[in-house]
Amino acid sequence: MTSLLITGARVYDHDGDVDQPPVADVLIEDSTITATGEEVERALGAQRRPERTLDARGMLLVPGFVNAHYHSYDLLAKGLFEEVPLEVWRHYTARMAANRPREEVRLRTLLGAVECLKNGITTVQDMSIQAYDPSLVETILEAYDEAGIRVVFSVSVRDLPDADTIPYVRELFAPDLLDAIGARAGDPARVMAFLRAQLERHRSARLHWALSPSAPHRCSEPMMKAIVALAEERGLPVYTHLYEALGHALQARERHGADGGSLVRYMDRVGLLGTRLSVAHGLWSRPDELDLLARRGARVVVNAVSNLKLKDGVPPVNELRRAGVALAFGCDCFSCSDTQNLFQSMKLCCLLAAAESPHPGLLSAAEAVRIATAGGAATAGLDAGAIRRGMKADLVLLDLADPSFVPFNSAARQIVFSETGRAVHTVIVDGRVVVRERCTTTLEERSLQEALAEAMPAYRAEFRRVERELEPLARAFAAQAARVNACDVGIERYPRRQAAPNPP
Ligand SMILES: [Zn+2]
Repeated sequence: MTSLLITGARVYDHDGDVDQPPVADVLIEDSTITATGEEVERALGAQRRPERTLDARGMLLVPGFVNAHYHSYDLLAKGLFEEVPLEVWRHYTARMAANRPREEVRLRTLLGAVECLKNGITTVQDMSIQAYDPSLVETILEAYDEAGIRVVFSVSVRDLPDADTIPYVRELFAPDLLDAIGARAGDPARVMAFLRAQLERHRSARLHWALSPSAPHRCSEPMMKAIVALAEERGLPVYTHLYEALGHALQARERHGADGGSLVRYMDRVGLLGTRLSVAHGLWSRPDELDLLARRGARVVVNAVSNLKLKDGVPPVNELRRAGVALAFGCDCFSCSDTQNLFQSMKLCCLLAAAESPHPGLLSAAEAVRIATAGGAATAGLDAGAIRRGMKADLVLLDLADPSFVPFNSAARQIVFSETGRAVHTVIVDGRVVVRERCTTTLEERSLQEALAEAMPAYRAEFRRVERELEPLARAFAAQAARVNACDVGIERYPRRQAAPNPP
């Protein structure tokens, strides 16, 4: 058994003093926290000494952050987009994710892990797209193993084509454009067989599996039921996208009349709505749908930066809180949030209440910290997200000498409103130090950057080619978006929606 004693740090406790957390020792044995505070002396006994001691005086020890909705596939597209509507952006990035060289896939997975770790994220829930290829899955999992981050991995699957799941495209798009977005249904049996085979792949203590039907409106009923059965058989969490955009609510009203125009009720009917389910976004959920999500114990993962950048609307944080829905936070794709940083997510989610009213919001800083750690861990069924005996040793040391914490008035508020990721000093995953003094210990960052410099010219050239190729599609989607944006689905997520685009 290996043991590590962290001494001298202020230790953050969600249920304790979240402004001035007291100094306490924390003992880690192998991958688990086995004692904190006064328990440590007893746990160590008279003669026993820890193998290693980490002097953390002047630091704040917090639970590791969980990026509960993440896609690593478009890391190389970071910064390539200004603001692009969701459907257009999806087709760019999906095209750029397909058939990429193995080395590029490895590189993007590693670089994503580095960025997350250095921002204090100890777990990512990577929903992989364009990964219907066993060797690709293997490449990604090997990279995660090398990086040392905890990953809840899933391959996003669907069987209904975009031509049937995006409103009005069958009417508005020429046949060649329908082919370009995908007009043929998939075979659920084949998809499920592929998933079953992947679940047999190696598991490490840091690799956990989940199932990801891409979105309820993109999956047929037989496929949803097959996923429910597999999740129950293997005890797996299920992640999906839900109501990211207005068009998804519109689609639900038109296609799911038998379920009251509701994708939430559709998921309930097929047996998916329960504690193992986390939905990313949930932005355009009606109040009755939020109530049902809350009653069934399903979680909503809020991706505020991505929602705002893709012009999906304003996440209804107050409504979610009012409905009592369990929450987690995610950073979504690299090219729609451009960073994997839960400090940004926490701050934004707390401040978004101003979109609704001048009154204080329903999300406090301390609650945001709990959601970003324990809330995220709960979406994967992990015993993590709090610093106490029996929890996984996924921990972060923040340097209290960083300007974000000077003067030190409140741990919770300064984590949420002041910190940017700059104070992340040391990161521990599964009991192992993976970031020390702001540098990863598992990877040679310089050699990754050199490999990236070699890969980018070809990637950028390919991106420009795809951009030219997709020009007609982007124009067609502009007409489709105008039609969708003129629709009323009974709720509003744009504080002042305008039918026409802003003048240049
Ligand atoms: Zn997503």
